[in-house]
Formats: sequence, structure tokens, C-alpha cells
Amino acid sequence: MVAAVITDLRPNLAYLKPQDVSLVEQAYEFSDAAHQGQLRQSGDPYISHPVAVAQIVASWQLDAQAVVAALLHDVMEDTVVTKAEISARFGKSVADLVDGVSKLDRLESQTPVEAEAENFRKMLLAMASDVRVMLIKLADRLHNMRTLGAVSTEQRRRVARETIEIYAPIANRLGLDRLFREMHELAFQNLYPNRYRVLTKAVKAARGNRREGMNKVLAAVKERLPGVGIDALVSGREKHIYSIYKKMQEKHLSFSEVLDIYGCRVVVKDVSSCYLALGALHALYKPVPGKFKDYIAIPKANGYQSLHTTLIGPFGVPLEVQIRSEKMQRVAETGVASHWLYKDTAEDLSLVQQRTHQWLQSLLDIQKTSGDAAEFLEHIKVDLFPDEVYVFTPKGKILPMPRGATPVDFAYAVHTDIGNCCMSAKINYELVPLRTELQNGDRVEIITAPNAHPNAHWLAYVKTAKARAQIRHFLKTMQAGESVALGERLLNQVLRALGTRVGDVSKAKWEKLVRDTGARSREDILSDVGLGKRLAAIVARKLLQLADQQQLEGKEAKPAGSILIRGSEGMAVEFAHCCNPIPGDPIIGFIKKGQGLVIHTHDCPTARRSRGDSDKWIDVDWDQQTARLFDVRLKVLVMDQRGVLAKVAAAIADAGCNIANVSAENDDINYVTNSFTLQVTDRQHLARVLRALRRIPEVVRITRAKD
Ligand code: MN
Repeated sequence: MVAAVITDLRPNLAYLKPQDVSLVEQAYEFSDAAHQGQLRQSGDPYISHPVAVAQIVASWQLDAQAVVAALLHDVMEDTVVTKAEISARFGKSVADLVDGVSKLDRLESQTPVEAEAENFRKMLLAMASDVRVMLIKLADRLHNMRTLGAVSTEQRRRVARETIEIYAPIANRLGLDRLFREMHELAFQNLYPNRYRVLTKAVKAARGNRREGMNKVLAAVKERLPGVGIDALVSGREKHIYSIYKKMQEKHLSFSEVLDIYGCRVVVKDVSSCYLALGALHALYKPVPGKFKDYIAIPKANGYQSLHTTLIGPFGVPLEVQIRSEKMQRVAETGVASHWLYKDTAEDLSLVQQRTHQWLQSLLDIQKTSGDAAEFLEHIKVDLFPDEVYVFTPKGKILPMPRGATPVDFAYAVHTDIGNCCMSAKINYELVPLRTELQNGDRVEIITAPNAHPNAHWLAYVKTAKARAQIRHFLKTMQAGESVALGERLLNQVLRALGTRVGDVSKAKWEKLVRDTGARSREDILSDVGLGKRLAAIVARKLLQLADQQQLEGKEAKPAGSILIRGSEGMAVEFAHCCNPIPGDPIIGFIKKGQGLVIHTHDCPTARRSRGDSDKWIDVDWDQQTARLFDVRLKVLVMDQRGVLAKVAAAIADAGCNIANVSAENDDINYVTNSFTLQVTDRQHLARVLRALRRIPEVVRITRAKD
């Protein structure tokens, strides 16, 4: 069994150099060993699949690296083999190809709904930066389609639909006409087995009476062309069931109305012979008016060239005729791959980039001579050299983003409110810093909090105009609102102690206060309080002096409540960098002139030095709900052994914690102090990290750095 499959492959490798053939054989041995014991759903040994894929790739006569990669294309996903191992054995290019195909495989599980198909195709093409990766992927898909019989009906339908929506259009875009058609045919057969069966039967029945007509035409054409000095290869072909079905659907025809179930292809030596042959055929049979298309003068976007015409044959049966040169025939059959097959000039085009370039160049040349370039260029540019990356939302929608975009850009692209309430982000289920650059295929999730706000630092790294404009807008307009809200809370705290509230102070008293202080408005005063330009205690005293003394008498003074800190107050509240308070720490607030409130821990040495200035300090406390990650610094003393830092970092990551910064200094020969800046939600989170670290035997001492 095993011996049989490699023998199947060998005859297809004749175009490769002998040393390349032996490399392919090594790859076969390697892949066979890696997949040992695995079976396909059909019950065949798994290795039969990569061999079949390699066979398809070889039939396009791609280079040896591509054939080797085709043999290995599933080992990274399905076995324990790593990229490094492939690289060591077969070279980096092969490893990159296999890695590229594996990445596409992983995306496949996220295939989106129909409306998203175009973006998904772009994502796939953008990820397959090497055209060979896409070709191997298409070969993989083709073989899976050919062997769909073994899988469940449901899976069969899913794979078939995916093929019609995603892979067949890519094959078409790359000019792989034969592949495109076979994919369609197989997909149709699996998606609509009944329609396929009925149509096949009808075509079979109809063949009998139409074949005669076609044979007559073929014979006449074969006779006529040499007569006018044209050397041609004439062949008749039966149209694919799927193309007949599509024609019925698109033109609302019944089967009996679809007349051209046969086609005829004429392949000649060169371009001028194409037109000569066309003239000769039009003289032989009447063409159907309006059916003639000149794809030589104006090629299709994928480079396809041909003359198409429909002739009225004997018995009035129409027959579609395609006329093309040998070179056009090669492009039509193998598309982009034809440049591997038939190297015309440059012998040393070994790098795929050069090949891709050459391919593009040849397409561009076609365009230059025929116009209609703008749209075509746009397609090629977007598909193969994208300025864009394509990422998934948690619901599987695909968003195109400019290259270099970050989760913040993504948040604003989804919705302005999401951007404005963005607190943190997960990429592929892991918390990441908001400045992380998005990669093709990333699944991006934004974590929002009702009280979270845009941060001025975001402006340093956002890429999209929308995000930039929205952040600026927010900072300009909302910052004032924030300080007003904070000012009101600060003032309320003082007023509550005196038995009243901001809302209870009459309008007249506020107006008088505004006049007396020379402020512009009540909001102005509150904002000043929030920003620390005015002290709440002083504003309160002034308000109450103005208040009706009667009203206040007899009311007991209540102890001042603490101001609750959520962590989402924005610019008005700052967390001191000396002590890095986190939720759960006892804290105290310092009113800093012009800068709002600075939060320190109770035991912060820096804070302690200025505690004398008591009217600048106020009681603060953590809100039940805090809405962000807080920095905390740890010093971890470890024994200096190999791999300790990795262990420590892994333990931190396992505790669900980000490392924002790390540095190390040697205390002596045996010990190292690692300083980490971590991001935690609160003290409990920190405690989990500490527990995880203490479990590591090499960890000697952990201290939280303050100062
Ligand atoms: Mn596969």
C-alpha cells in the first residue's frame, strides 16, 4: 500500500532534476513516518492525501520546493513535527511554505457567512504572501473535494459551499481555469446531489440527438481550416453540468432551452491565426449576432485570452467555439502556474517573488496594450501586495484594516462607542497591550467598560483617521465633562458631611458664588474643583456661608465619606508611579494643583513626606467595580540558573497576567533580581501571581516595589 503511493507520484516528477526527485522522495518518507497510524475518513492511510496533493502540484509543474511542501502540508497541523524540524531537514523556504499552508488551514475553521466571502478571499490571499502557498492550498482543497464521498452529508455540504464561495473564485482569479471548473463541478454535485443527478440524466439523453450535429461541425471545421492554410487542433467538448445549471439559473431557462451543451475548441499557432480561423468559421456557418467576444484584444482580469463565437450548426443547433493560440491555451489551463511550466526568458528566476513579479508584469503588459487597466490593477494590488490586513470580530465578521492598525483602531472601526469605552483587548483569546499591531487572520475582541475613556497616549499609535479624530474629539469635549463630574463628587463629599448635597444648593446661591469668584459658570467652578484648581472644602464653605443658616442648624454633621475611585476617571485622576496602587490597596488622594487627584497607597514613602499639608489630602477608596488593568512592580530574586526567567514569565502568563516590562540585574554570582512591571486587575489577581511564583523552586524572594 505504502509503496504504491510513492510509485504513483514518481512518473509525475519527470520534469524535475534528479537531485530534486530524491528530495521529494525524502519528503515522502518523512511525511509517511509523521502520519504513521493516521487514517483518512475513507479509511485510507493518511499519507495518500499529501501524495495526491503533491501529484496535483506536480501536474502544474511547480518547483521541487512546492512539491516537497505539498507532501508535508499537513504535518505541522496534524502531527508533532515542528517548523524548525522541517526547516532543518528541507530548508527554510519549504518550512515557510508549510507554515503558510498551515496558517490557511487554521483560518478555514472560521469561514464566514456568504456576505463576507470577498473579504475572506482577500484575507487568504494576503496571508499567502507566496503564490505557491495558495497553489498548494488549492490543490489540497481539490483533493478533499474529490474524496468528499467518505464524509457526512452535513460536512460535505459545508465544504462544497466553501469551495464555491471561497476557493473556486480564487482559482479563477489566479487564472487556473481547469481547476476552477472542476471545483465547481464537484461542489455542485455535493451541494445539490438531486439537481446534479437529474441534469446529468437530461444531458445524457439530449446528447444523442445533438452529438450528430456537433460531429458534423467538427468534421467540417477540421476540413476547412487546413484549406485556408491554418494549422489547428480542433476538439469538441461537453459542457460541464454546473455551467449548464448556472446558465439555466441566470437566464431563467429550462433545460430544453439550453442548447449549447457542446462546445468546440480550436487551438492555433499564433494570434493572427486566431483571427484568420475566425473568419474561416464565420464563412462556414452563420454566427449568432451579438455573441462574439474578443478576449484577445481585451483579456479577462485573470489573463485569460480567446475569441468566443457561437455558430448555428446543421439542424439549427448553436455551438460555442473558442479560438486561441497555444500560448493562450497554456495560460487558460494553468494560469499563474504557467510561468513555472514554460520559462521563456529568464533562466535564473529562482525566487518566487521574481516569479510573481514576472507574472504580474506579463499581465500588466497585456493591460498596457488593451486598456481597462485601472480596475484590474486594483484587484491585483489588493490581493497580492495588500496595504491591508483582515481581522475577525468575535462574531466572525471580517474587517479590513490598514497595515499597522491596533486594537484601538479596530474598536473605533466597529463602533465609536466601542472605541470610546475600550478598556483592553484580546487577540486570539489573549490579553494584549492596546498598541499591538494587528496581523492578518487575528481574532480581535475589545473589552469595554461603561466608565472607560479614551486615553491621550492612544494618539501615539492609532493608524486610522477615524480613531484619531474620535479620540481628539473625545479628549477635547469630554475631558471638561469628566472634571465637572469629579468636581461634583469631591464637593458632594464635603457637603454631605455638612448635611447637604450639591443638588440641594439653590440656583441663586450658585449664581452669587459664580459672581463672587469671578468664574464663568457653575460648571466652571466644578471643573476647577475636579482639576484641583480649587479646593472642594473652600468652595463648600463659601456656598454654605451663602446658605440660609436656619436651614443648617440642628442638622448633625456626618463624617465625610470617601471618594470612590474606579480607575476610569481619565485625566482627572492619576495613579502615583512611586507606589503603583492597585484595587484592594488602602489608598489616599492628593489634590495636585492643576492636575486633579493623585492616588497613592497609604504606606507610600513619597506620600508620607508631604502628609503634613493636610488640606490637600482627602480620603479615597476603591469602587466595587474597577475598570482597567493596573501596573504593579515586582522584584523577584531568583537563583541564577538556565531557563529561570522563562519559568517565571510562564508562571506569570499562566496566572492570566500581562508583563509590561522586565529587566534583570545580577546581585552576585548566584542570584539575579528580575524587575517586572505587571498588569493586574486587583490585589486578588496579584495574589494569584505571587502564589504561582512561589511554587517555582528557584524563586527566593518576591517583593512589591514601592518608591
Ligand atoms: Mn490537507
